[in-house]
Amino acid sequence: MSKVAVITGGGSGLGQSCAIRLAEEGVNIAVVDVSDEGGNQTVEAVKELGQDAIFIKADVSKAEDVKRYVDETIEYFGTIDYFFNNAGISGSGAYFLETDIKEIEQIVGINLLGALYGIRYVAEVMLKNGGGSIVNTASSAGVIGQDTVVTYSATKHGIVGLTKSLVAEYAKDGLRVNAIAPGPTETPMVKSYFEANPKMKASAESGIPQKRLGTPEEVAELVTFLLTSKAEYINGEVIRIDGGFTNTKF
Ligand code: NAD
Repeated sequence: MSKVAVITGGGSGLGQSCAIRLAEEGVNIAVVDVSDEGGNQTVEAVKELGQDAIFIKADVSKAEDVKRYVDETIEYFGTIDYFFNNAGISGSGAYFLETDIKEIEQIVGINLLGALYGIRYVAEVMLKNGGGSIVNTASSAGVIGQDTVVTYSATKHGIVGLTKSLVAEYAKDGLRVNAIAPGPTETPMVKSYFEANPKMKASAESGIPQKRLGTPEEVAELVTFLLTSKAEYINGEVIRIDGGFTNTKF
């Protein structure tokens, strides 16, 4: 029987690449996103690989939407084995004291509350079924401090905290929870930003020991490894995938 994965933010970037990589491993996918276009595109890509997929339009910052995407996944697939808790947004890049309160609420709502709500409902199902595996998306900004991303960094440090603490509570019941901390990765969002600001790209690359950005495919490979039984004894880890970037900051 095929395993079932729920992927939030599955309509683009890291979520989409991971859906495709997991489908190559024979996994069926519930794609959760606010974007119809992106979500349906991922579903098509998964189906082309011979796996089943559904798109569930939901806003992860709303607890009722989160409960609904879990219920709809169970209704359609009957179970959830893997959860890539990934949807997130970045901020405007303003300094913190110039940041609008609405922006702070929005980033915390999607990046942190969305991730907590997701685990609240998904882990409940997994534990009923004897266990499961979760990967949360943190960031380089979740393991080091950086200017112009204070709120984003606070949410991603929160992701690290929830990853470690959940393991303390539920590892004994068969739940594995790990996090990834990618550095700048060439997802469509980042790519279009750097195309418009080539100097920013050169500056970002020069700060990375490997002198290039990461690719979504490299991140998807790591997430797939962590989610599946190949990583059965890895629990509560935060794995950096950043070309050595954060290693040079300690
Ligand atoms: P992306 O913009 O390409 O994809 C994010 C997806 O999330 C989009 O499809 C978007 O529609 C969806 N989304 C946004 N708000 C949502 C909501 N409220 N409910 C449901 N879906 C929502 O971005 P990405 O680069 O793939 O980012 C994915 C994750 O990776 C984020 O958590 C981001 O913080 C993290 N991250 C990205 C990078 C990078 O350089 N790309 C680096 C570190 C961490």
